Formats: sequence, C-alpha cells, structure tokens
Amino acid sequence: MDAIDQVLMNSRLHYLGMAARTIQPVMRLAILTCMDARIDTAGLLGLRPGDAHVLRNAGGRATDDAVAALAISQAVLGTREVMVLHHTECAMGRMKATEMAARIEAATGHAFHEKLETFADPIEAVVEDVERLKRSPHLAHREKIRGFMYDLEKNAINEVLARATGSGGGP
Ligand SMILES: [Zn+2]
Repeated sequence: MDAIDQVLMNSRLHYLGMAARTIQPVMRLAILTCMDARIDTAGLLGLRPGDAHVLRNAGGRATDDAVAALAISQAVLGTREVMVLHHTECAMGRMKATEMAARIEAATGHAFHEKLETFADPIEAVVEDVERLKRSPHLAHREKIRGFMYDLEKNAINEVLARATGSGGGP
C-alpha cells in the first residue's frame, strides 16, 4: 500500500469528527518548524485542531514562503505570536547547499537553482530566523516572535535567546 493510502485510512479511523469549526487559530499562535518526520508538533506542544497554524519546511527556516504564510496568518487570520522551532540532528545542518543541490540534480537529472537554507550553526540559524521575522515589514505583530531548539535526544525544548548586540559572542 502506498503511504498516502495508509494515512488516508488512518484519517478515517481516528480523526473523523475532530475538525475545528473556526478558521482563526484559537491560541492566536503560528509555529514555524522543520518538516523532519520525528517532530510531532501537535503531540509535542499539546495542540488540538484549531489551536495554531503550523508551517513546515526544510529546516523550519524563515524563507520568503514562510514569511508570506505568516503575513496571512497575522493580518488575515488573527495570530499574534510566532514560535520558531528548530531541532537537533537537522538534515539542513549536515550538508552544504551545494552538496544538497548536487544530490537533487543527480537524482533527477535536472539542474537545481532554488535557494536551499542550509546552515553551519544550529543555534545561529534559530537566531537568524527570529531576526529575519522581526525585521519583516509584512508582519503586523513582531513583539512575540521567539526561537527554540528541540533536543530530540533529551526530548526537551529550550529557548534560544537573541545574541547581545555588539558582543559577537555566542551563548
Ligand atoms: Zn530539520
């Protein structure tokens, strides 16, 4: 059975009748996280359907697409807080963008020119994404944008605080 058929079957067995009724997230929260299959966002954060927007991409990065979705989330659908949630052992931190593009090209036989948001320092990547969002003129609410690291081994979430300006040092 294809994986898509399997999840469709799961949805029929487990989730009928759980659909939330309001389009605006009840918690007025948007979460930007990685597509990594080990992150069960709802289970990890205790979210139920209707509670929050969950945006996922490779790395949980603040890409232009993510910013556009967050702009809609805030201005149209009423969210007020953004949680950026990266994690340990992320594939985007294990390979350079050029290596990753080469893998894609080898697999498909086509040149790949899309921007890939790989990173060298996982903590720095969280700080960078929070700063990108805080600088974005398209986000109406930038007071409550916070960054976090999910430690898969410890199964714990720790806040990543912004670096002090001018010091140049890490945490
Ligand atoms: Zn990841």
